[in-house]
Amino acid sequence: MAKKYDVIVVGAGPAGLVAAKVVGENGFEVALVERKTDITVLNRACGATLDSANEYCHHDLYRCNVRDKRLSFPAHGFSVKYDGPYRNCYAWHFYSPGGNMVQAGVCEEQKEKGDYGKITAIPDKEILLRCLLEEAKACSVEVFPGINVEKVASTAEGVRVEGSGQSFEGKYLIAADGANSRIAQMLGMNEGRHYYCQFRALANDWSGVEPPEPDAFVNGDTARMKQGPFSFFLFPEAREGLYWQAVISIDPRVDLKAAESHFLKQPLFAPWFKNAKKVRTLSANVNCYSPIVDAYKGRVLIAGDVGATMELLISGAMISGWKAGHAVSLALQEENLELEVTALAHFDNWWKEAYVNYYSQDELMKNPVLKLILEPEEIDYLFSLIKEPMRPCLNPYTIREDWGQAMRNLSPIIQQNRPEMYQKLGKMGLTAREIMAEVTRLSKPVF
Ligand SMILES: Cc1cc2nc3c(=O)[nH]c(=O)nc-3n(C[C@H](O)[C@H](O)[C@H](O)COP(=O)(O)OP(=O)(O)OC[C@H]3O[C@@H](n4cnc5c(N)ncnc54)[C@H](O)[C@@H]3O)c2cc1C
Repeated sequence: MAKKYDVIVVGAGPAGLVAAKVVGENGFEVALVERKTDITVLNRACGATLDSANEYCHHDLYRCNVRDKRLSFPAHGFSVKYDGPYRNCYAWHFYSPGGNMVQAGVCEEQKEKGDYGKITAIPDKEILLRCLLEEAKACSVEVFPGINVEKVASTAEGVRVEGSGQSFEGKYLIAADGANSRIAQMLGMNEGRHYYCQFRALANDWSGVEPPEPDAFVNGDTARMKQGPFSFFLFPEAREGLYWQAVISIDPRVDLKAAESHFLKQPLFAPWFKNAKKVRTLSANVNCYSPIVDAYKGRVLIAGDVGATMELLISGAMISGWKAGHAVSLALQEENLELEVTALAHFDNWWKEAYVNYYSQDELMKNPVLKLILEPEEIDYLFSLIKEPMRPCLNPYTIREDWGQAMRNLSPIIQQNRPEMYQKLGKMGLTAREIMAEVTRLSKPVF
């Protein structure tokens, strides 16, 4: 016999935890159902940077309120508990395969501005999950770990969710089960979305890494493997002395283990890892679709990565969970008072205005495509021309504008000196779906 709730939330990531807490805080009965047996332990790779510290991202300027152990979103008007450490990064360093570096921000200059010079604060995501879970429990959320949701069905009064031999009934369901959401797939919410690719990552926590600039967010391409291109990331973690390093590819032919050892042997990076020790390895497979346009279907609302292109980021996931939690609470209140239900339509408008139509999703997907267009040597040449640092930034939605501007400035030089490369760069004017067509053909989503 299924226990009945006002709201069921599936997925206890940042979106689901915040959504469940908000519904509980509003005085409703909530079940939070999660596949992992320990919600606070990461089982999927995540760099955990909070993007972006020095400019609006997801319509907010978050603040690390270290004094009161809160992470706050003043534009939206809420904060969450976070009692762990942060690590700041002050510049984004992009490396070409041959080792030319382009900087978004200059670490030394940014550090002079103190805390306001950071481009990101990096929390410990496991501590963040623990804090969010504590807050949810304090708001009477009933938490059910170890339940893998396999079925969702409509009932006379709402929705039933089944998994791992248990079933839960609620008047509403918030689907916060991440980028590869089974709920979205089961309910047909992925229909009409464009599937781009799988974003696959192999990530390690390391101790003893010695990069030349310890407070930079480092990212780039290395010499290409035969199987195809991949990118790497390296930046400090909140946990003292640790660095997060990942190899990432959107090309399904790339063997990530081989990519990792290829990266670690590169003459530029190998010395950084001379004394390094691997502490933990995690991986990730993320379906990259265009967004879900409608934020609810029947009595099911989406929150977090479920409806996003690739990822909503930790900050966007919490904001959307907060919005979904309040929307569902208001809808219940409207129903209980026999008023017209308007809250869901407002939530849907917010999602479309704040995300679907606000950010160019196709432009976001263009972030990793330069290496599908240019040869490594051509990327080296391009980077060698960019002498001036770009604006300090760690915002995946806006960084392409800076690159676009830099490339437009260089167009006359490239056109004159490297006409073939100039022609290739013209492809950047195509959509990501056009540029990635071959990768898309080879790639399949997973659920
Ligand atoms: C390699 C990588 C690096 C990243 N780095 C960053 C970064 O540096 N900064 C940043 O802001 N973001 C980063 N992200 C993105 C970030 O991890 C997500 O945007 C964020 O965690 C989304 O939160 P969410 O709650 O929507 O989904 P998730 O965090 O994915 O949580 C979904 C939850 O649902 C559960 N679940 C899934 N299916 C079921 C089911 N059938 N039944 C029950 N439970 C289920 C999962 O176990 C999970 O706990 C990264 C992602 C990847 C893959």
